[in-house]
Parts: sequence; C-alpha cells; structure tokens
Amino acid sequence: MKITDIKIGKISVPLRTPFKTALRTVSRVEDIIVEVKTDTGHVGYGEAAPTGVITGDTTGAIVGAIKDHIKKSLVGMDIENFEEIMIKLNRCVVKNNSAKAAVDIALYDLYGQLYGAPLYKLLGGYRNEIITDITISVNDPDEMARDSIDAINRGYDVLKIKVGKDATKDMIRMKSIRDAVGYDVKLRIDANQGWKPKEAVKLLRKMEDAGLDIEFVEQPVAANDIEGLKFVTDNVSIPVLADESIFSPQDALKVLQNRAADFINIKLMKTGGIYNALKICSLAEIYDVECMIGCMLEAKVSVNAAVHLACAKSIITKIDLDGPVLCSEDPVVGGAIFNERKISLPDSQGLGVSAIKNIQYL
Ligand SMILES: [Mg+2]
Repeated sequence: MKITDIKIGKISVPLRTPFKTALRTVSRVEDIIVEVKTDTGHVGYGEAAPTGVITGDTTGAIVGAIKDHIKKSLVGMDIENFEEIMIKLNRCVVKNNSAKAAVDIALYDLYGQLYGAPLYKLLGGYRNEIITDITISVNDPDEMARDSIDAINRGYDVLKIKVGKDATKDMIRMKSIRDAVGYDVKLRIDANQGWKPKEAVKLLRKMEDAGLDIEFVEQPVAANDIEGLKFVTDNVSIPVLADESIFSPQDALKVLQNRAADFINIKLMKTGGIYNALKICSLAEIYDVECMIGCMLEAKVSVNAAVHLACAKSIITKIDLDGPVLCSEDPVVGGAIFNERKISLPDSQGLGVSAIKNIQYL
C-alpha cells in the first residue's frame, strides 16, 4: 500500500451556538481535510484545526507545511514501513503540529485498513464506548447557568466550564452554575491560561471554601509558566490539569518530573497526531498520572481519531470530545457514533470514515 498523493481541502461546519473562551470567539469550524491516496485505492482521511492563538497553526501554515514539506517526504513510501513514515513525518518540518496531526491521522487510518482492523483495537482495544463532557462557553452568569441546565437536559452529567476572563466574575459564574445544577453533576473548569499563579490560588481556594466541588481546573496559568503551574498544583486541593503547557512528549516529561500538574490533557492538534500522543500515554502510565483526551473546535474526522485513541488506552480516564456535538452538521460518513454524551465505535477498518461531504479542494 504505497502513498501516491496527499490531497488538501477545506470544510466549513456551522456551530450550534458561538464558542467563547478566554482567548477567542468562533462561530464555525473551518478545518483543513487531507486525503492520503494509495496505489491500492485505499484512502486515509485526516483533519487539522487552525487555532493560531493556541497552536500557532493558521490555515495558510497548515496548507504550506503539508504541500511544501510533508507531501514531498512521504509520497512513494509504503504504509507497511509505518515507523519509518512516522519518523519522516515528524522530522521533515519542525513544529507545525496541526499539519502533522492531519497527516498522522490519515496514515493511522490506512494502517488500520492495511491490517483489516479498527484502529482502536490495533492500539490496545481497551473499550469501544466512552462518555464525554460538554463545554459551557464564557458568558454572563445567568446565561451560563441556563446553558448548563440545557446540557443536563440533553443527558450530560459532566460539564466543562470556561472561565478565566475575570477572576471576580468567575466566582459568581461558578456559584450560579452550581446553584442551578445541584451536586449530582460534575463541574470541571478551564481557565485557558487566564490567571496569574497567585490569583489562581486565591480564587481556587475561594471556590473550595464555597463548597463548589470542582472536579479539576484546567490550565490556570500561562502555557510556558511551568513553575507557576506547579505553584498552583502545590497550593490548592482542587486537582490541576495541564493543557496548553503540554504539546510534545518532552513537555509532558517535564511536567511529570516536576509534578507540576495532577493530570495531562492530550490533544492530537498539540501532539502532532497519534504517534506522539501514544508516547505521552506511556509516560503518563510510568508516572501513574491519568490523562484527559480533548479536542480543539474540530469536526468528526480528527475527533474520531481521538475517540479511537481514547478507546485504546486505559490511562485516558477523562473525555472532552464535544467538538462534533457543538456542530450543527456532521460532514463525515462513518466513524464514531456520537449520541450526545455517549460515543461508540463501530468495528469498521482503520478509522471507519468512508467519505467526507462538501470538501472544497485547495
Ligand atoms: Mg483546555
């Protein structure tokens, strides 16, 4: 199964409601799609989400990295030589993790097809169903409480609340949400680097004292402030999860060795795909630190790949794969079945995607 071509296209999928975090507001998922073609007629599908404010990867940069570097390095290689392909993919251009993720996902899709098995089974096959949380965007406290109730009515019992825009208001937001939903619902919060270390400790202790029962806090401080992250971890009872601080396995090792966080958030757009995500899983297993799997605002192609990884590995105990349910349309034929919080995998080969609708080829 030799790689003959890598085609690049774009999809544009509307969101049910605008998505707001401390860093940005978005109303459509506009992602890059890759199709890795082979001489056997098999096609592997991948997706990259341009999130310049988080990964630095813009649409133009993703397209350029694939066209000018990745495609040139990989065309002609055989999927049988998978390790060699992965080494080339990771070395042919530095950074550009979202571009690498898109191609890595498509290659793993082909790897599964080559051996006639669903990818999650080839990677460990721990389970075939997972339960995701859903994200509540940063808004006024009343609106966030209403959105939380809506989510519960749709069947969710774990809510991920976006905070970090204004520490005083965050406290009011969390109180109004907890009052509205009661104590049977898990609340995890994501500050998206919104606080300074001391500010985070002060606020999180207040939340503890107010009995808000926060499951964990995600990325309280700036991505590169590992000392600040550790300061927060050491000074609050609420567990801390590192997200933007960890892109590569090397980043994960640094956080693990310093005990700078209690959990790690793996996202394929940060790691550059499944190959490096597996290395982070192994490191986390060694340090006995549980992982969450998350996504950017992504459609179902790349989130489907994350579902396969999550189903394969037992160290991934927390699921934040709500990208597809935040969209009002699904451009993907096949793949994981999203039934609100319940995500299940059919036993189709590779990643199980048979087509993607409305691709505008570039
Ligand atoms: Mg996050």
